Amino acid sequence: MYKILKDIDFIIFDLDGVFYREDENILGTKEIIDYLDLKNIQYCFFTNNSNYKTKRYKEKLLKGSVDVDENKIFTTTKLIEHYLFENSAKDIYVLGSTQLQETLYSKYKKNSISPEFIVIGMDNNITLKDISNTINLIKNNTQIIAANPDKLIPLKDRFELECGVINSIISEFTNKEIKIIGKPNSYGYETILNKFKKEKEKTMMIGDTYDTDILGAINSNINPAWIKTGNDLPKFVVKKDFMIFDSLIDLKEKLEKAKRD
Ligand SMILES: [Mg+2]
Repeated sequence: MYKILKDIDFIIFDLDGVFYREDENILGTKEIIDYLDLKNIQYCFFTNNSNYKTKRYKEKLLKGSVDVDENKIFTTTKLIEHYLFENSAKDIYVLGSTQLQETLYSKYKKNSISPEFIVIGMDNNITLKDISNTINLIKNNTQIIAANPDKLIPLKDRFELECGVINSIISEFTNKEIKIIGKPNSYGYETILNKFKKEKEKTMMIGDTYDTDILGAINSNINPAWIKTGNDLPKFVVKKDFMIFDSLIDLKEKLEKAKRD
């Protein structure tokens, strides 16, 4: 039993591998959310993905009978918007999905010559020419921010390249630092904790990916927990550094017991 569970009053959940696996439902989604609502334990969802609007995640959660407000769902698009706002951005250039472009260009002026900020996200339609064009826009004072560092996303029987591959190409040819907004950087975690006015010590992150969810929580001094319903752990990992749950049902049972004792 993990003693810390007694004090947890805020849970940040990863989405894919925790509440669904691609298009498949995962057991226990409604049970855990009903329990947290009943006990007044707050929670939110945090995904590294920048391809879709929060509405799509709300719909995916609804398939597992979980009905949550969109303001509980944090995508890297939402966090990038927040970062640009905090940094008083004036003009930007976006290399990423249509969704990311539409969202950011609705708030910030597009500059295709000499942008103050360049925003990198993932989209399967990005070409090498698009990446070359973006590199050509980068000047000494251009700030580069990226949605996430993942190089590939494991799917059921294959993988897909992700944003981290584009980041690598851009940083190799520009020698510039890229600010990562998503996990495992602490920016997203800290923004979420500020929004909900929660303390790190009483917060738990539950995810299935060691390199992003677990390391992100460790980097942010939040209690990390790995759940077995998604990705496998890398072989080198020391399992006593984080909590482990078999499933959302297992999490609910352990929380119930800890809060009762
Ligand atoms: Mg995941």
